[in-house]
Amino acid sequence: MKSKHLARRKVSAAIENAVLAKSARRCALCFHLNGDLEEKIGQIAHLDGNRANCLENNLAFLCLPHHSIFDSTTKQHKNYTTTEVKNYRSRLYKAIAKNEHFLGRSNVGAEGVELKTLRVLADVLRKRPAKRSRRRVGARTPSAEAPAFEMTVHTGGYSEDYRAIVLVVDLANRGSSADQVVEWTLQFESLDLALSPSAAPANIVTPVPQWSSLLVRIGPSEFTQGTLFFKAAGKLAEGLPQEPLVGTLGAKTLYGKRLLRKVKIYRLLTLKEHPELAH
Ligand SMILES: [Zn+2]
Repeated sequence: MKSKHLARRKVSAAIENAVLAKSARRCALCFHLNGDLEEKIGQIAHLDGNRANCLENNLAFLCLPHHSIFDSTTKQHKNYTTTEVKNYRSRLYKAIAKNEHFLGRSNVGAEGVELKTLRVLADVLRKRPAKRSRRRVGARTPSAEAPAFEMTVHTGGYSEDYRAIVLVVDLANRGSSADQVVEWTLQFESLDLALSPSAAPANIVTPVPQWSSLLVRIGPSEFTQGTLFFKAAGKLAEGLPQEPLVGTLGAKTLYGKRLLRKVKIYRLLTLKEHPELAH
């Protein structure tokens, strides 16, 4: 599996950027099959199955589940064909070029009190010991007690305007090789609910900048901090049922590390009244 991923990196940066820009990290199959234009955690697929063919026409951004189905050679079902995916891809590119992925996005909060509260949360978090964007962290001798990849989650804010949770997350890589988060989940056992992050609405002010991609890549001895935005679903879409609501943030990395951290979620308005709850 690993060697497969490494081989894929032969795609030139210019071509990779073109594919990512034209797709805006939307999956061609999700779009065609479900009309789904949400940003996806995914990969660039080689449509003819030949990883050495790195021409742009042979590449498409697919979400992880669809990439895995597309690459599988199962005889159990009729798999998606190369021509089929190329057709879906051209429809996707047209939709993105017309900015259809911005349609129907929430505009709430543009003038609302929560927008101000998000700024307050930002100020509160900024007062914590400064950990600015990317910086180097000291490499440690690896041992069982000192995992190479570390994650810290700060207090989460629940926005009633956006019906969403905003989390500030720190990642530190004390190992000697780069790794990358390939999957995030925010789980609430008491609600029997698991959420995946999505791109935040363009008008939201997040406490620290969002990562440019949810596939956060982190080099050896590097530290990075970013905001994750989780659109509420299920019971959470009706409001925060209790305060704090305790959940677990999970991150899975390309090299198979699984990080789990407990997180407490308060309403943004509560954090505004009690900034000491944010840490
Ligand atoms: Zn998909």
